[in-house]
Amino acid sequence: MSFKSLGIASYFLEKLTEEGFTKPFPIQEKAIPAILNNKDVLGIAQTGSGKTASYALPILMNLEGKTSTKNRHINVLVLVPTRELAIQVADVFSNFSKALPFRFKTMAVYGGVSINPQMINMQHVNVLVATPGRLLDLVSSNALHFSELSTLVLDEADKLLNMGFQKEMDKILTLLPSKRQNLLFSATLSPQVQGIEKILLNKPEVIKIEPKETNLDLIKHTAYAVTDARKGPFLRYLIKHYEMQQVLVFTSSIYKAENVVDKLKKNGIEARAIHSKRSQGSRKVALKEFKAGTLRVLVATDLLSRGIDIEFLPYVINYELPRSPKDFIHRIGRTGRAENPGEAISLITSEERHHFKVIQKKMKRWIDLTYTDEVSLHGF
Ligand code: AMP
Repeated sequence: MSFKSLGIASYFLEKLTEEGFTKPFPIQEKAIPAILNNKDVLGIAQTGSGKTASYALPILMNLEGKTSTKNRHINVLVLVPTRELAIQVADVFSNFSKALPFRFKTMAVYGGVSINPQMINMQHVNVLVATPGRLLDLVSSNALHFSELSTLVLDEADKLLNMGFQKEMDKILTLLPSKRQNLLFSATLSPQVQGIEKILLNKPEVIKIEPKETNLDLIKHTAYAVTDARKGPFLRYLIKHYEMQQVLVFTSSIYKAENVVDKLKKNGIEARAIHSKRSQGSRKVALKEFKAGTLRVLVATDLLSRGIDIEFLPYVINYELPRSPKDFIHRIGRTGRAENPGEAISLITSEERHHFKVIQKKMKRWIDLTYTDEVSLHGF
């Protein structure tokens, strides 16, 4: 199966090759033809499945010759639960739209930043990617109109509904033209998602993509026994001694994440923290630099272990253990790839040993503790 045989326009083919999309992912094989045929779609798929391109490409193609000529009348609305996802999805649209043979504008809007630039920038936007609250604020300021809207996408619908956006969503649905294409993507088919599916979708094409299981066998696990006082120096020793270049470090608190970053920097190791108290701008820069390989260490709370897509990492270090074994697997999941197995390292104090045993039992994997008392940490 090729993108061409799915009906993808020739103007996209070169761009797809450039992006390294050699062949369609399963969700793309199913969703692209359905969306091109103007069908409603219910896609049960996770971040990482390729769902964004599965709707962005056919949506862009369907707009050829149909983009709105009226200012502030958007054609497509993508609703997402978080700022991160808004930015990520808008980036995908912007990037692909560079290959379009017609003029096109994408914009992401979300709360937590000033509304004025978003109002001004709304001029001639075709695809708007928005979190629900900020979208309604913009609507009440008369910054945009929906009469030309032809497609609605709910991305990560389960999170949208779980995060208490139900009221906003109901309000938004009353504002949209009734004749439109609806695309709903969700990692799970929760009762809330089933509820909204029934209201929203008209004879949808149902596409279910099973999540890729983290293959724990592909991950090299190492656990070091350290005292609390030696944890920081030992982390710096590991990074320097093994010349690690792209390391994701997890802590269990924001305070600790900041603290670890400060100490790494003082020791000449480029590091940034990413957690819920960091501004959107700083999170974006940190993630971008880290993905590009220009930032050596990213220190994160569990905010990052789900959702945000980083394809492959050579090292994940658990500076502190997560509470749940599930989160442990989420954290380390990005290190295991058949062609390139990575390493998950945990630093375990005596207080954490019992909890580490619980995690191992749940994973059905036993990891020997390596004692580190002999390692000289002088100078770290
Ligand atoms: P998503 O699930 O939309 O967040 O996509 C996950 C990742 O897969 C993104 O980094 C995409 O750029 C990448 N991707 C999507 N489709 C393909 C494809 N057909 N071939 C290679 N990479 C892809």
